[in-house]
Amino acid sequence: MPDPAVVLIEDEPQIRRFLRATMTREGYRLFEATTGAAGLVEVGSRQPDVVIVDLGLPDMDGLAVIRRLREWTDVPVIVLSARGQERDKVTALDAGADDYVSKPFGAGELLARIRVALRHTAGASHAADEATFKVGALQVDLLHRRVFVGDQEVRFTPIEYKLLTTLVQHAGRVVTHQQLLREVWGPTHTDQAHYVRVYMGHLRHKLEAEPARPRYLLTEPGVGYRLAVE
Ligand code: CA
Repeated sequence: MPDPAVVLIEDEPQIRRFLRATMTREGYRLFEATTGAAGLVEVGSRQPDVVIVDLGLPDMDGLAVIRRLREWTDVPVIVLSARGQERDKVTALDAGADDYVSKPFGAGELLARIRVALRHTAGASHAADEATFKVGALQVDLLHRRVFVGDQEVRFTPIEYKLLTTLVQHAGRVVTHQQLLREVWGPTHTDQAHYVRVYMGHLRHKLEAEPARPRYLLTEPGVGYRLAVE
């Protein structure tokens, strides 16, 4: 297996320099583009394992790049966005991005996102290995529909269990409020954002040692939730 290839579409030289040093050190093959148009060509010719796209590009909107990519490829896309642009993050995720990192970000954070993206790609062909999800003391046995914290079994209502398993399917990646509503309650309930908040509260009380300071069910402010994977 060759080293995983990453296409980075980013016009800021400092960020490219930082990522070049980080990714090369970690054994990734990095291909860079400074415009959206060049990035699309690069993705087409390199067939990378992951694409990283800045939302603010000189020639076109990063969102347009994501939409163009989604016309022909399922490659995981991680967005780089400025902090505070929650609406842009949600729009990017709706446009088909898999995850995002807010600037300024640390190398560890981005590398963790890339590992998750690569794992989900690999997981598609190894479904049987994914029957049990584990992080810390939390264990979700999807095959037998049983959930444990340590050796304590936890019981859920059907909706709570559906919410938890939806997060497990996207483990490590952000899931938007809209996505959760659609997948757990169905397409006719997408305006009931408070359902998610209420049921996430139930899950936290059942799974977290300190529900107000969650270890597993993390809040992504203004965007959605993320199930921790490490
Ligand atoms: Ca930029």
